Amino acid sequence: MRVLGIEGTAWCASAALHDTGTDTTRIESNPYEPESGGIHPREAAEHMADAIPEVVDTVLSGADVEGSEHGVDAVAFSRGPGLGPCLRVVGTAARALAGTLDVPLVGVNHMVAHLEVGRHQSGFENPVCLNASGANAHLLGYHDGRYRVLGETMDAGVGNAIDKFTRHVGWSHPGGPKVESAAAEATAGTDGGDLLDLPYVVKGMDFSFSGISSAANDAYDDGEPIEEICFSLQEHVFGTLVEVSERALSLTGADELVLGGGVGQNDRLREMLETMCDSRGASFYAPDPPYLRDNAGMIAILGAKMAAAGDTLRIAESSIDPNFRPDDVPVTWRDDTSS
Ligand code: ATP
Repeated sequence: MRVLGIEGTAWCASAALHDTGTDTTRIESNPYEPESGGIHPREAAEHMADAIPEVVDTVLSGADVEGSEHGVDAVAFSRGPGLGPCLRVVGTAARALAGTLDVPLVGVNHMVAHLEVGRHQSGFENPVCLNASGANAHLLGYHDGRYRVLGETMDAGVGNAIDKFTRHVGWSHPGGPKVESAAAEATAGTDGGDLLDLPYVVKGMDFSFSGISSAANDAYDDGEPIEEICFSLQEHVFGTLVEVSERALSLTGADELVLGGGVGQNDRLREMLETMCDSRGASFYAPDPPYLRDNAGMIAILGAKMAAAGDTLRIAESSIDPNFRPDDVPVTWRDDTSS
């Protein structure tokens, strides 16, 4: 089966063709890069309207069309969560393509796709997933036919919390990679320098980042060296994520952790998670960066599993959902529906 995936929840217009026979995926992406500030929903939607047809065209023109008539057996799209204006463009494109090609339409939850791409690539059976993305931060674990939210941010997504600080200091979007580079220059942690004392908030399995961003902004205004702030910001934010990931493993008894989301591209976060997993004898898997940040490959891969399970949508029921939670999704594609 060959499934065309379309992604465009916020900043990345992306299309992918996943072939289940060869387990290969071709991805084409075109990012929206705001000239200043953060992601502007209207500008991002205009970007989607221009870039989605382009990436779809490129990915399909490179497809080997032997087999089915046009090389596509289903069209999968990211239905949410995300920015409404962007999702509407993606939904319209997917409905039009599925109708024109006369193939089934599959509506994919973007956060479940972040998890499932890690499960697919790692071969893990029943992992806990840490989704560390721009707009979200949560731990997912499977139970009784759904991915349950075991813990989540009570305010900002992890990437958004970091980007809030980088906007304050005048760095362009996205801020995460710039914080990672600056943190590597810090004396704290390498040279006896001290961590700055930023808020660290974990309540049960939930956590908060808004106080950390504000305190980092204040430290910058007070003249603390930016490298030291970036280092401390990372250590506090990632320490929070590692703590709740370990709690989730402990609570569920799972011994597999997968990472999802754009912040997962950060080497320090991956190192900290790997160390924690090693220390408790758990296995850790992080997809390669193109499958961590927003991408249509994960939409096509999960879309193929859903299509094979008959989990498709009638056009009339295919509305987008900007607040689509992962625990709203009945998991139809796993065999072990009760573990
Ligand atoms: P979501 O998947 O929740 O819709 P999103 O659309 O914002 O989130 P992602 O691609 O998952 O997109 O993540 C983008 C975020 O990742 C941005 O906030 C960016 O700053 C952050 N990021 C990218 N690279 C790094 C890095 N090396 N270190 C830390 N953060 C990073």
